[in-house]
Amino acid sequence: MNRWRDLYCGELRLDDVGRTVTVAGWVARRRDHGGLIFVDLRDHTGIVQLVVNPERSPAAAQAAHAIRSEFVLRAVGAVVARAPEAVNPNLATGAVEIQVDELEIVARSEPLPFQLDDDNVEEPLRLRYRYLDLRRDRMQRNLRMSHTIVAAIRRSMEEQGFIDIWTPTMTLGTPEGARDFLVPVRLQPGTFFALAQSPQLFKQTLMIGGLDRYYQIATCWRDEDLRADRQFEFRQLDLELAFPTREDVMDVLERVVAASFEAVGRTPPERPLPRLSYAEAMARYGSDKPDTRFGLEIQDATDVTRDSEFGVFKNAERVRFLVAPRVFSRAELQRLEEFAKEWGAKGLAYLVVEESGEARSPIAKFLSADELAAFAAPPGSTVLFAADTQAMVERVLGALRSELGRQLGLIDESQDDLLWVIDFPLFLRDEDTGQWTFVHHPFTSPLDGHEDLIESDPGTALSQHYDLIWNGWELGSGSIRIHREDVQERVFRAMGMTDEEARAKFGWFLEALQLGAPPHGGFALGIERFVALFAGEANIREIIPFPKTASGSDPLTGAPAPTTQERLSELGITLANPELEAGR
Ligand code: ASP
Repeated sequence: MNRWRDLYCGELRLDDVGRTVTVAGWVARRRDHGGLIFVDLRDHTGIVQLVVNPERSPAAAQAAHAIRSEFVLRAVGAVVARAPEAVNPNLATGAVEIQVDELEIVARSEPLPFQLDDDNVEEPLRLRYRYLDLRRDRMQRNLRMSHTIVAAIRRSMEEQGFIDIWTPTMTLGTPEGARDFLVPVRLQPGTFFALAQSPQLFKQTLMIGGLDRYYQIATCWRDEDLRADRQFEFRQLDLELAFPTREDVMDVLERVVAASFEAVGRTPPERPLPRLSYAEAMARYGSDKPDTRFGLEIQDATDVTRDSEFGVFKNAERVRFLVAPRVFSRAELQRLEEFAKEWGAKGLAYLVVEESGEARSPIAKFLSADELAAFAAPPGSTVLFAADTQAMVERVLGALRSELGRQLGLIDESQDDLLWVIDFPLFLRDEDTGQWTFVHHPFTSPLDGHEDLIESDPGTALSQHYDLIWNGWELGSGSIRIHREDVQERVFRAMGMTDEEARAKFGWFLEALQLGAPPHGGFALGIERFVALFAGEANIREIIPFPKTASGSDPLTGAPAPTTQERLSELGITLANPELEAGR
């Protein structure tokens, strides 16, 4: 190839025996066998064994004595077949080795902060020395898989007639339900750009601009607490199309999903993917992103508990339950109750049905034969109840179901369940303010025929919003949008926005809706979550080359960092807390 190497370390095979080759890479291991020195040289394709023999090349042997793990070497030598007993069947290059004639130490390495073959390195240390971590198989595999998938996504989008268009990342606030990251503007002190939470309004504007089919692998910024599946900045396949039906948009995504499965050599799920209504998802799984790889479905008992002698049941808006296939001990039940309380439950009533069929429960004496029959728990199981408002019952049992699915090993990990959740409500009540607020974002269209509910009964209005779910992870969301200005204004009003506020925030967009806006709709698929699921990683940080820690900092660069007084003055900013000014 060039002066550094003729081919990659992992490429050598028996066919190459007899060639003189130049290879370059990192020292994975060095073994000194009194005289002979063996070096495992590594690059992104694999490992090849170098043999340095002082009799063959005294200079190379001299150099080899100095080398340590992760030194960068260039070696020239003859490819030879290994003796039969020395063949390593676990290595692609294991039938050969290079007898070194010339060895160059290209770069040295200080002693390493951790060994690259140590799988138990703490994450902060991995991130502090991310470049070392990136040399390891796991990160190499994940980043390369990420590339393969993104490339397949782009191909599929282009095949489907979408064009890649860039939209601004410094913009006005975009209401996606998180806080904006703000960027102060030196040329107009006191003003701020928001970093785009998504290209939402720009992509809608592109449709109004007649671009027809847009896509972009867009970076988005959201200021929210970080979790296993959340980072401040992330990428999404962002797309929008003009004159679509909901089915059209879902079909575009299903093709993208299929192309991605194929790109990584896996059989795509059958299309069309199953659809589940939001109401059904909440009733059966207590979640709008249900993991359907296991049963343990929630059941409703409200009809029979309405006349219960047990006051908690009688007075509750809803009584629902799960039948766990196990007899829990008192201590286990106590832990489950604590768990339910963390999710907002007041308590956790239970009914244990012993293997003998005998029921054990502090509330058994209050329950009628009808009630007991409705719970229909087989011997060897425990019925767990939630009695509360519908929203609370769904939340608590949904969380409990996921927890028990994991704890009891009910999840079939070999299965992949992708599905759509559709028919979301248009609005939900904000628990803090009591105000109606959007479920997806305020540009989502009501379901056909539900427009008039916007004013008359906002809580029952359904929307044309759909989510794509994979094994209980929300891969992304989309919707058919409102394309009529009057409907958009009514939705803003229903959310408690005055016309003046709406105009101040979205006046430019409302104006665009009045100048020939076609029906349009789209979707956004979270790339890191998507890749993490393919890679079998539980945390998207494993898919991101340089992620932030859970506390929102980057151990590699030390960002974020305080700035100088001078920069702050230029931006017209005074820090309220002088302690912060010094960056303490
Ligand atoms: N803007 C939405 C999001 O980022 C996706 C969409 O509605 O297209 O979740």
